[in-house]
Amino acid sequence: MSTSNEAKLSSKFELTTLESYSDESLLAEMRRVVAVLKGTKITHEKFNEFSRVHSTTLRHRFGSWKNALDLAGISEGIAPRFNPLTRESVIANLRSYAAEFPETPVTKEEIASRLGVDGGSITRKFGKWQNLLNEVGISSVPLGRRYTDEKCYENIVALWTHYGRQPSFAELKQPPSSVGSKAYVLRWGGWRAALGAFIKYVNQEPQTVQEIFSEKSRSEMQVTQTPLVATPRSISLSLRYKVLCRDKFRCVICGRSPAKDHNIELHVDHIHPWSKGGQNIEENLRTLCFDCNLGKGAKIES
Ligand SMILES: [Zn+2]
Repeated sequence: MSTSNEAKLSSKFELTTLESYSDESLLAEMRRVVAVLKGTKITHEKFNEFSRVHSTTLRHRFGSWKNALDLAGISEGIAPRFNPLTRESVIANLRSYAAEFPETPVTKEEIASRLGVDGGSITRKFGKWQNLLNEVGISSVPLGRRYTDEKCYENIVALWTHYGRQPSFAELKQPPSSVGSKAYVLRWGGWRAALGAFIKYVNQEPQTVQEIFSEKSRSEMQVTQTPLVATPRSISLSLRYKVLCRDKFRCVICGRSPAKDHNIELHVDHIHPWSKGGQNIEENLRTLCFDCNLGKGAKIES
């Protein structure tokens, strides 16, 4: 077998499970990874990248990562038996995890698993998990909550437009989604519930002029001088969604859609321009692609 074939065998295209999970199979898998890494030092991360079993499994089976390495006969030169549980290693892992998964809270268990130790040993050594987080300046509050409801709904509309249909849970995890799936799970408990909240939100009655007025009077001192003309220029998310749905997520002029051509960008456009007194109402709005929108400018169409 050629070297390139061997490299292929060790790549991610290989089956990701072992045929047997006996002690000997697990140890053999460790030795296989060592061979694949061709002298590169073994860390948990490196190991988990190439192995078909997680280092946590080995730790549970053999008591510790060190024991597993010893039993597999892997030399210190390849896998140094340093104590993984140092303040530096915990903090480094905390930082890298937070950078890698900005929407997910950093749990003690996750970091412990990365270090190949159990969560209890971290708190025994460093005290309360929260204190450690504070020290590093990482919030324990799920960062998914940093998104406003509006931002989460915005992302749903963006994906709905992109796919031309209700987005799936899996699609939250990949571009063009800008809010990860965990943010929805953390906030609403699940994707269906999040969609339910979204639909309820967009089906709300639009704000009446009276409501807009009273909101303004609370926030603006000079409201009495401000004449109440038309509706606000910016199109609300729910109105935008309604127009996009009505137009079936396609440009009403050329008929193109992001679902069929990912290069197409849709905009909700005022038929009678807002600058010329056009209203922010469904009847005065339509879906246009970027190109058709450009061709229009601010001229009033018949
Ligand atoms: Zn178009």
